[in-house]
Amino acid sequence: MNLAELTHPEIARLIPHTPVVVPVAAMEQHGVHLPLATDSMLLGEVVRRVEPRLHAEVLFAPLLWLGNSHHHLEYAGTLSAAPRTYLDLVSDLLDNLLGHGFRRILFLNGHGGNITPGRQAIFETRQKHRARTDLLLLFASYWDFARPEQGRGDLVQSAVGHACEWETSMMLAIRPDLVKPFASLEPRDVGYGFEPAYRGWITQERRPRGGDAPGHLGDPARASAEKGEYLLGCYADGMEAFLRRVVAWDGHSWEWPVADRPG
Ligand SMILES: [Zn+2]
Repeated sequence: MNLAELTHPEIARLIPHTPVVVPVAAMEQHGVHLPLATDSMLLGEVVRRVEPRLHAEVLFAPLLWLGNSHHHLEYAGTLSAAPRTYLDLVSDLLDNLLGHGFRRILFLNGHGGNITPGRQAIFETRQKHRARTDLLLLFASYWDFARPEQGRGDLVQSAVGHACEWETSMMLAIRPDLVKPFASLEPRDVGYGFEPAYRGWITQERRPRGGDAPGHLGDPARASAEKGEYLLGCYADGMEAFLRRVVAWDGHSWEWPVADRPG
């Protein structure tokens, strides 16, 4: 079900037990070869594939295209909510949904910059409602739901990067008309350096010595539409399986890993 297509009485009948999914992504530079809406389009595609499979059980909010993308602001066209603004934005949406009476809420993310403020919003909101025992507040990125590199030997990356082999492949699968030439792009390291520390960074500084920073991280030249279709299928299946766990939640218990389950 899509929140944007329902009336308020129809939505009222879904409260409190129907899980609500809020897809959140970004509008930011994706290298010289992909459009700014790449993250929003890819997450939207995974949601589009999963929604019919759970049509009667899960309510999907419209995708929020504004994300926390300050690390890409040196590139023309990037639109971004600052980290604290974004934290407040997600917190306000959580408050809206809790105020309406929903109890199972998943923020489904499609952009790395949203992870830290998004998780913080979930954590703070849970602390604000400490006396409640009936809340399931979740944040996850769509790439958390599958390990596609384990099922296909020709993927050169072992995880998703940025405007990389994986994202370029998925865009080739859904909107090849929007993908500019990519075959001659040089790979760019996805690592942060100085690990195991987390280093504050902006995209433009992640360049080889004397090299340029076209905006991608990873190896887009290795992309193909076939890989993209495979990746989207993995993520849609993984997301469906996860949402079925949210639907099946008993409304109050912790979810114990099978091996640790008491009794
Ligand atoms: Zn992206």
